[in-house]
Amino acid sequence: MTIAENVALVRRNMDEAAQKAGRDPKEILLLAATKMNDADRVREAIRAGVDLCGENRVQEMLEKQAQGAYEGAPLHFIGHLQKNKVKQVVGLAELIHGVDSPALLEAISRVAESRGLVQDVLLEVNIGAEESKSGFAPEELPAALEAASRLPNLRVRGLMAIPPICAAPEENRPFFLRMKQLFIDNGEKKYDNVSMDFLSMGMSGDYTEAIACGANLIRVGSGIFGPRHYPSP
Ligand SMILES: *Cc1c(COP(=O)(O)O)cnc(C)c1O
Repeated sequence: MTIAENVALVRRNMDEAAQKAGRDPKEILLLAATKMNDADRVREAIRAGVDLCGENRVQEMLEKQAQGAYEGAPLHFIGHLQKNKVKQVVGLAELIHGVDSPALLEAISRVAESRGLVQDVLLEVNIGAEESKSGFAPEELPAALEAASRLPNLRVRGLMAIPPICAAPEENRPFFLRMKQLFIDNGEKKYDNVSMDFLSMGMSGDYTEAIACGANLIRVGSGIFGPRHYPSP
């Protein structure tokens, strides 16, 4: 299967899942998770009609950016952002998905302020309460949103989650449903600089479940590019 064929298949699955859930397919964005795929393959995915590109690693993103890989699609940062890399990402990525601490919120706002811009971010939620994963606990979200509302050069645009690895996609449903509820509940309170627009969840193995549960931005890697070949140690 070519990248274009894969994108077409993902789109069909997205449309079907949206229709089944009584949702408008047009309200759901397809982000290509482009890690480990070179600039040519990224360009191929953009030509095939993905809405957004998302990178995990700062260095890789800068290299491909220099090659013009993302022309034609907004670029998001979806990896774990370390504080010492904030300077390289603010202003380059339109949306930073995985913001997981008050200190990172502050660091992003500070850099954005020095550049005279407002950076859009999503708060990551550790929805499976996993030791190995970063993100805010659900009960920490109100305080995090409150803190974010006091940072003038940052705007929270929604929530992001990576649920635990499950044997079957439908096992993720409770996590996705909980995320949707958090998205609604935290969106009802009015904070400055916060607008709950994006619920980023669902990957190659479970995006139709995520759409059934309310995701409006899915992040698909191997489902578009094929399996990733990690270098052997
Ligand atoms: C790699 C990655 C994805 C895509 O994963 P696939 O299973 O290949 O679709 C989505 N989100 C994040 C944060 C990722 O790092």
